[in-house]
Amino acid sequence: MRIPFNKPWLAGDEMKYIRQAVEGGHLSGNGPFTQRCHRFFEERYHFKKVLLTTSCTDALEMCALLLDIQPGDEVIVPSYTFVSTALAFVRQGATIVFADSRPDHPGMDETVLESLITPRTKVIVPVHYAGVACDMEVIMAIADKYNIFVVEDAAHAMESFYNGRSLGGIGHLACFSFHETKNVQCGEGGMLVINDARFVDRAEIIWEKGTNRAAFFRGEVDKYGWVSMGSSFLPSDLSAAFLLAQLEQLEEIQRRRVALWHWYDDHVEELLDGYQYSMPVIPDYATVNGHAYYVVCDTAQERDRMLRGLKQRGIHAVFHYLQLEKSYFMKQRQNSTHCPQSQRYTQCLVRLPFYMGLEETIKKELFNTLKAGF
Ligand SMILES: *Cc1c(COP(=O)(O)O)cnc(C)c1O
Repeated sequence: MRIPFNKPWLAGDEMKYIRQAVEGGHLSGNGPFTQRCHRFFEERYHFKKVLLTTSCTDALEMCALLLDIQPGDEVIVPSYTFVSTALAFVRQGATIVFADSRPDHPGMDETVLESLITPRTKVIVPVHYAGVACDMEVIMAIADKYNIFVVEDAAHAMESFYNGRSLGGIGHLACFSFHETKNVQCGEGGMLVINDARFVDRAEIIWEKGTNRAAFFRGEVDKYGWVSMGSSFLPSDLSAAFLLAQLEQLEEIQRRRVALWHWYDDHVEELLDGYQYSMPVIPDYATVNGHAYYVVCDTAQERDRMLRGLKQRGIHAVFHYLQLEKSYFMKQRQNSTHCPQSQRYTQCLVRLPFYMGLEETIKKELFNTLKAGF
């Protein structure tokens, strides 16, 4: 394909920082580069406490441990999301209750939430799809009313806002991803955000294999040992070194990605002329962070026709996700619910190529090749 769906971008200082980490001799987790990344997020977004993890999946698993999810506990997860959003809680024995998407947006439909709550509901996990905020005020009010925790899956949501508030800073806990396909990346990586102070100390212990080593390194305890459940959730300082180089270019990354999103939004009608689809809707309370651009075709047949048409022009557009309640795994575990909007996005959504550097390609050829085809 001439135009791939994604291309990882390098900020420039990744190798320099990795070399510094190697020469500095601290290669394992929670080293100087990890701490610089932590400071970056705590200062920029005023998050109370953050911990880098090896993935967003890991950060979600940490949430399931922190919230002490037990077999039979219910966790409300959107049907239309990546596997990890549900899997992290299933590992602790949770029953997943699937929430449908909004008719105008793939994000969780907050108006169906209250009807899904039972005495066993412990957590709601909104996913800010394509970086567009869920209606967090409504979701937090419902969570307060029923004494339920909120974990934001903010994998797409770096540098995006809900009524001026940073996504990832609203729920009790939040998880980000630095996978190669996300706005800021280090190959595989993630981050847990702890907004509720009650979880800070235990989060650090779970992060460090159930030990109080982080407190020991700060000189707060005179020996460290096994004090709780946990795992090895912390990334090598080499990953943090790579990530820091990206974070230092965040303004540039966001400026260019948001511009690309608006370019698509201004030109998509021209580019996709002849197809039946609708454009993304951004609610008033949400912002665009340039994570992804998608359109929703009127039918599954139209989606396939669009993907084929783009492919013939060397453009790799993709579809995702496959509604989780209809997955092989979920169908074996529990009765399927019906989420008609999620089914529609599963069958009809198309994501267009989106990566740093695509601007130049667009100027050179995307516009012409696309136009020539219609
Ligand atoms: C990418 C993604 C994840 C998983 O992130 P990893 O860092 O690859 O574990 C989880 N949730 C959503 C919504 C994602 O897009």
